[in-house]
Amino acid sequence: MPELPEVETVRRGLEHVMLGQRITRVEQRRPDLRFPFPPDFAAQLEGRTVLAIGRRAKYLVIEVSGGDALIVHLGMSGRLTVERQGGTSTPCLGDYVHKTGAATKHDHVVVTLGSNDLITYNDPRRFGFMLLIARDAIDHHPLFAKLGVEPLGPDLDVAYLRRRAKGKRVDLKSFLLDQRIIAGLGNIYVCEALHRAGLSPRRQAHTLAGGTAKAIERTTVLVATIQAVLEQAVSDYRQTDGTSGGFQAAFMVYGRAGQACVRAGCTGTISRIIQSQRSTFYCSKCQV
Ligand SMILES: [Zn+2]
Repeated sequence: MPELPEVETVRRGLEHVMLGQRITRVEQRRPDLRFPFPPDFAAQLEGRTVLAIGRRAKYLVIEVSGGDALIVHLGMSGRLTVERQGGTSTPCLGDYVHKTGAATKHDHVVVTLGSNDLITYNDPRRFGFMLLIARDAIDHHPLFAKLGVEPLGPDLDVAYLRRRAKGKRVDLKSFLLDQRIIAGLGNIYVCEALHRAGLSPRRQAHTLAGGTAKAIERTTVLVATIQAVLEQAVSDYRQTDGTSGGFQAAFMVYGRAGQACVRAGCTGTISRIIQSQRSTFYCSKCQV
């Protein structure tokens, strides 16, 4: 499943190609993905101009003229590819942690821009979806209304996280995966951030909230590492030019059960445990 850094990379790639462009043609090749497309989806989009390309959690929010926004979710296997005018193809914008075949029979939507660039949505498993909703209604839409703060935005800070952690008798891993607290933060990056911060995923979340200097320091380090891990993932992905592999090698704990901990001076071994039905990878020696 595409994680937040991948979706952010797709957003930046789309911005480069779509911003300010008129959508001249939309070819919709099937009635549904995970959900049916909105009625008259193609006709409604044609003729509109792209005003902004945003992201909320793992949703792309493409604002178009007329006050609406095209919401795109990549599901498990959705990818967007760009074919520039003149036939030069940029690398696939979505191929990242998980590789899937790009057979053209899974090309479900093809958008032509005024520049004659083509944007193709390919999704073999069809867990992705597209919606067209009023720009003003986004914050109240059921998909978005309960989402917490963006991990890469200014609202995730020490005071916020400490406030949300107060009284929370759940493990830190589950707390950080709760989309109502931080939106779009996934399993891989929670494992990576906790390792980098030296915090155990089994620690109680409320230990971020106490009044001690240690609790404040803990939370300060955690916020900084969440942001650093995500930023690094976005920049690593860009360096790989869309080919996957480079980034996975950079995981410090994720998928490394049984291997030696990579932290300098640590003699621990990475363990895999299950928390909230998800795999957690961590080092019990240096994550306390
Ligand atoms: Zn360790």
